[in-house]
This record gives sequence, structure tokens and C-alpha cells, in this order.
Amino acid sequence: MTAVMSPTATRPLAICGGERLIPRGTILPSPPTTALDEQMVLDSLRSGSHTWGPHTEALQEEWKQWNGNLHCIAVNSGTSALHLCLAAVNMSAGDEVITPAYSWTSSASCILHHNGIPVFADIEPVYANLDPAKVEAAITPRTRAIIVVHLHGVPADIAPIQEIARRHGIAVIEDCCQAHGAKYYGRKVGTLADCAAFSLNQNKMLSSGEGGFFVTDDEVNAERARSLALFGDFRRPVEDPEYHSYGLGWMYRFNELSAAYARAQLTRLDESIEHSRSLFAILRKDLAGLPGLILASEPAWASENGYNFVCHVDPTAVGYEGPADHFREAIVRALQAEGVPASVWQRRILPEFSAIAARNAYGNGSPWREHGSEVSYDPGQYPNALYHSATYFILSGLRLPNTEDTARLIAAGVRRVFENLDQLDIDELARGADISLYERGWRPHAVS
Ligand SMILES: *Cc1c(COP(=O)(O)O)cnc(C)c1O
Repeated sequence: MTAVMSPTATRPLAICGGERLIPRGTILPSPPTTALDEQMVLDSLRSGSHTWGPHTEALQEEWKQWNGNLHCIAVNSGTSALHLCLAAVNMSAGDEVITPAYSWTSSASCILHHNGIPVFADIEPVYANLDPAKVEAAITPRTRAIIVVHLHGVPADIAPIQEIARRHGIAVIEDCCQAHGAKYYGRKVGTLADCAAFSLNQNKMLSSGEGGFFVTDDEVNAERARSLALFGDFRRPVEDPEYHSYGLGWMYRFNELSAAYARAQLTRLDESIEHSRSLFAILRKDLAGLPGLILASEPAWASENGYNFVCHVDPTAVGYEGPADHFREAIVRALQAEGVPASVWQRRILPEFSAIAARNAYGNGSPWREHGSEVSYDPGQYPNALYHSATYFILSGLRLPNTEDTARLIAAGVRRVFENLDQLDIDELARGADISLYERGWRPHAVS
């Protein structure tokens, strides 16, 4: 039955049976494939060289140039690049490394992969980056390094953290996996600390399907990383390998097909960042002042790269008294029903991840037990990380080839939901959401 409505009657939201605002197929996948992508990949394919070769060598040079680093090592993922950062600063087994309580798992698992102890510091509530005061409080005589994550493409306020690190004689590593081209007081991220990691995963601002960059301006760090990325040998892969391991190395080598694709994508990176930034500006303008929705403006110290458009819900502002994450889940479901590309990435903070919560990564309580670590992972220590994970959602679809009109349509979908909250049965909608496997008792076999 089609309801006949007067123009003044409220249209039902799509989740309540109304018509969706944004038709299927409106939001186009990113990045678009260009003739240059095809030409470069085909050129690589026909060259017959499929492991390390001229495209990988050229890509390293081009990234050094683009980002302003003295050394770049192309590797097979951002996670490998992060691991190399810890190896490069000469971290030892049992050392503590400080990392944010909310980030992607790699920002903490890289520490465990190097047989070290992750120590979490809480984030600040606005941009979800490390809070310098919490970093200071987390330092012990065993602290070897601090991993500063520029989450969602917004640079962390890194200067106070560097000051703390200098005072304690410890290294600073940047996790730039989401932040290609973001700038801190005008300087690109990845040039601000001892070394840094970038990801080239499909979702990131620069994509080659999978891949990563380790960058540093320090010759010794670079030599160490270069060797350990390739079985511990000390020669470059294009030279004759010596077939000897001078240290415990890994196989983190990049490959030619992906490098060719990344080189083509890199020619459009500046344009694609500028484009996303302009779409972000449209959303900020169109969504300003909506009750129940919190949008952060760009920080005074930085320019973002247009990676994630982050929103926070504010349930108390609209009179919802239940758990904040229930409100968020209901909103996201209502947005998705309108065709708005809203999503929640991680719903758990890192100290709640199973291997960490169980203090058992390798079996037998390793590495905590053998290093006598008493560090606590009680989630209550990280109220801002819990707040972020319970209240944020991300709007995507704000990258090339999507247009300003698409951005306006996304904003209209968000407005429609937030202006019609009275139509939503929050608790009922939240019940159907996938809030936590952990709460349902799921555990990986290693920590059962
Ligand atoms: C994506 C990501 C990584 C890991 O990069 P991969 O290339 O997927 O290994 C690390 N840290 C953060 C913050 C990320 O978003």
C-alpha cells in the first residue's frame, strides 16, 4: 500500500519502511582505475620481472621525494613497516613500547611480534590520538619507544610527545598508515620522528592493493631495517645476495606488479587528497549544528588528508539515556538504510583484544610471563578510548571519483536521520546490531 501524504507530513525513514534517499550504485568505489594504472601494470607484467625490480626501486625514490624522507624501503604491508620501525630503533625483547589504547591492531601487535610488551596510553577525546599527559604517566625504566598513530588521517599533536621522549632518551615512531599527506604545522607526517610506517592497502589514501613503506632520515635505522626486511641479509635485492642472515630477519619484500600500480596511483595522490578535503568541507558545512551529532573541526596544528570523516554521536543531547553504543548502532543502521555509507570500524579498544586481554600471545603466557611484566590492561584506565569506540562512526564515499553532489547527498541522508530521531526505536534497532563477538563468548583457540 502506498501511503498518501500531505507535503507537511513527515516522511518515514528508510529503516521505518520509507524510500531510501541515496539510490544503490550512487557511491562509486575508490580509487578509480586510470589508463596510466593499466599501462604501468601491463608494462611490469610484460617485463618478466615480478619480485624486486626497477618499479620497486623507482617507487622508493618517488616516495622519498613526495614525502621528504632520506630513506624509503618498500615492503609488503603497513604492519611489516611498523615491525621494521621497532627493529630499526633497536628494540630488545622485554622492552616496553607505548601505543594508543585505540588504533588498528597492528599498532600493538608489532610490539608483540618483536617480543616486547605493549603499554597503552589513553587518547584525547576529540581526534582520538595519543594524549601526551597519559604518555608521560605510562613511562617506566623499561620504555624503549612510543608509537604515535595519526588516526583517521588527522596528525597527533606530536611535539609534546617528542619533548617527553627526548627527556627520557626513547625513540618515537609514527604510524602513518592512515595519514599519507597529512601535515603537522605544515610538515608532512612521516618526517617528524625517528622512523615511520605507511600502508598501501586497498583502503588507504595511496593504494597498491597491499603494501607498505618504511621511512627514516637516519642511515643506521635504514640499514638495519633494510637487512631485516629481507631475511637478515645486508645487500639490496637487486645486487647479488650473500645468502647469509646477519640477524633474525623476515620476508617483507615488496613486488613489481604492486609497485607499478602504486607508482601510477602516486601521480594522483595530491589531487585525491585535495578532492577529499574539499568534500569534507561540504559535509562540515551541511552538517553543522545537528543535535545529537558532534563534528570536530580541523585541528589548529594540522591539516588532515581526507582519510576518514569521523562523527561522534551525542545521545544525551537528544535525551537518550541508554548506553551510548546502542544509540550509535541504531543511528548507523538507520543511515545505512538511507544508502548513506556510514560504518563503524573497530568497536573494541586494543587492551580488550583477546591475546592482550589474556596476556598470552605465543602460548605459556608469552611474552609477559618470561619478562615478568605486571602491566595492567584493565579497560577502565582508558575512558576516552572507550568513549571513542562507543560513539564514533565514519562516513565514506568522500574520495575520487565521487563528486560534490554525492557529498551533498550523503549530508542530506545524515540530516534526514538526525532530524527524525523520534521515528527510531533505539533499543530495538541496537538489539539487532553486531555489537561484540567477545560478549558472546568467542575466543581464538590460542587463548582459550
Ligand atoms: C591499515 C593500518 C595498519 C596496517 O597496514 P596494513 O598495510 O594493512 O598492514 C597499521 N596501522 C593503522 C593505523 C592502520 O590503519
